[in-house]
Amino acid sequence: MIYLDYSATTPVNKEVLDSFNKTCLDYIGNPNSFHSLGVKSNDLINSATKQIANLLKVKESEIIYTSGATESNNLAIKGIALKYQNRGKHIITTALEHSSIYGPISYLENFGFECDFVNIDEKGLVDLEHLKSLMRDDTILVSINSVNSEIGIIQPIEKIIEVLKNYPKCFFHMDMTQSIGKIDIPFDNIDLISFSGHKFFGMKGIGCLIKKEKVMLEPIIHGGKSTTVYRSGTPALPLIVSLSKALRLAYTDISNHYDKVMDLNRRLKNSLSKYDLVRINSNELCSPYILNFSILNIKPETFVHALEKYEVYISTQSACSTTNTISKSVLALTNDEKRASSSLRISISYITTEKQIDEFMNIFDKCYNSLEFVGK
Ligand code: PMP
Repeated sequence: MIYLDYSATTPVNKEVLDSFNKTCLDYIGNPNSFHSLGVKSNDLINSATKQIANLLKVKESEIIYTSGATESNNLAIKGIALKYQNRGKHIITTALEHSSIYGPISYLENFGFECDFVNIDEKGLVDLEHLKSLMRDDTILVSINSVNSEIGIIQPIEKIIEVLKNYPKCFFHMDMTQSIGKIDIPFDNIDLISFSGHKFFGMKGIGCLIKKEKVMLEPIIHGGKSTTVYRSGTPALPLIVSLSKALRLAYTDISNHYDKVMDLNRRLKNSLSKYDLVRINSNELCSPYILNFSILNIKPETFVHALEKYEVYISTQSACSTTNTISKSVLALTNDEKRASSSLRISISYITTEKQIDEFMNIFDKCYNSLEFVGK
């Protein structure tokens, strides 16, 4: 099997799973119970939270555990909107976001909120002048991802922060799901940060919203005690411990992993570029963990299924997009419907090997040649 869909999800690391299992078995108490088993569990949560806070260089009180980035994005957007609606009802985002950004924003539009999309340039980077021109007195939130999940575009965070510094009443939310554990981006001056553990060899079902101290939020899940007032429910101790383990493993070797993935990405890009019908959509400014390309005239689903026969797994768009639709991100970047309706995403990781890339290219070649003239 050749798995090249790590941006959709990663297999759990054995050490992470072991820490999950051990916590399940050894820490049975509810961290909010007053008896000694509860205290023991609470101590463990506190030490896991401390470790996460140290790794991410944030305060422990700024960590809100969620079920994943979808929930974090919902909490950030709805939480800010509900809390600060008296200040304004205007939100700005981009055409390169995950559906868990558009979902809550379009829900809020039913209640009088307005959303503007900031333009991107030919490399996919936010047009800073356009961002300035969209900012209004009633803009309460700007939400932009650090790395786009389909193409891998890395946004110029420092420059965006520079613009937003002139608007102290507006909060900045960043969906960092595709960069956490892969690209070390500092959190300074970002008010809210979302991510999911399963994108860096953690478990599915746990994520975080980092919420800086000065920011208030209206919770979207009410009732019951948890680690914070912003998200109720018994804390998922084994998942929280597993998250701290996964984060520690990811950050331990982050720059070596990056360099390795960069080499693999180059190898892949060089090989794919030789095919007549292939157009590479990811550019040199993109995350090396993602390589998006189109095979003109070939339906992406057809190609994915052709590869699957050889136990090779890649994606059409991102895993959360509705199937058989044109890629919004590729369309926003290229303005080319043909490319946007024939795009594929390969996502690699530090456990991918050169041998796997070469084997992938052999299988790619077979599938390409069998489909090239069929045009299905
Ligand atoms: N944001 C981005 C950029 C993503 O890539 C994903 C996962 N595809 C999500 C949010 C949602 O993450 P989850 O499915 O873990 O909630």
